[in-house]
Amino acid sequence: MTDFFTHNYNSPDTPCVIAGPCSAESKQQTLETARALADAGVTVFRAGLWKPRTRPGFFEGVGAEGIEWLTEVKRTTGMKVATEVATPRHAELCLDAGIDILWIGARTSGDPFAMRALADALHGAPSNVNVMIKNPLSPDIEAWIGAFERIAAAGITRLGAIHRGYTVFGPSRYRNEPLWEAPLEFCRRMPEIPMVIDPSHMAGRRALIAPLVDQALELGFNDFMIESHINPEAALTDAAQQLTPGQLSQLIHRISRKKFERA
Ligand code: PEP
Ligand code: MN
Repeated sequence: MTDFFTHNYNSPDTPCVIAGPCSAESKQQTLETARALADAGVTVFRAGLWKPRTRPGFFEGVGAEGIEWLTEVKRTTGMKVATEVATPRHAELCLDAGIDILWIGARTSGDPFAMRALADALHGAPSNVNVMIKNPLSPDIEAWIGAFERIAAAGITRLGAIHRGYTVFGPSRYRNEPLWEAPLEFCRRMPEIPMVIDPSHMAGRRALIAPLVDQALELGFNDFMIESHINPEAALTDAAQQLTPGQLSQLIHRISRKKFERA
């Protein structure tokens, strides 16, 4: 279990909330968002550098250029930093730069070839590197567990899971259906892996995030990854689901209060 997860599990009034913009868009947007989130008490900052887009023709991330923005966030705020890696090259660049947490996205975690290539790239990584794996797009628990087995076989011991919901066909209230049975089953099968809930990608829109957080808390999940942008309306990706740092701060208070009530 990773240090910061273990730490936060043990203190009911400090929920673990990983927060940050969907994408790092510019140095200014990244650092301003990070400073506001650090002021709100966030200790782990997320920002995507390489963005997987369903259709071509949209912003695909700033790429390697943003790595030094993340290292500046780390240096100036003291927060841990996290970004998505999908290829061996992404992983190598992040390891070289000392990025604390590499997460593997939903489009990658269900692909055994991609997972093998990432596992090879992570072989021999420093022991303090954390790898988090999002659920695959479909509720295939075997594939999710297989992704962990491949990364664990590469010698990575600090592992975490992120539940971000599932693609379904046809109209849905959610961007990705929560299908809570799936993360619960994952936790039964893999009790040693901490589970973080990503309500942002389940919701797809701001108004559904707090209700999803409440559902998660009711089920006993206490840790979250939530998207927050200094100016959500102007975000280049996932604008409808990002919270301002002020809104996120209120949500953190709500999580703390509910956790405290249940403790
Ligand atoms: C993200 O975290 O911004 C992202 C692309 O997530 P997912 O892999 O869950 O779609
Ligand atoms: Mn996003």
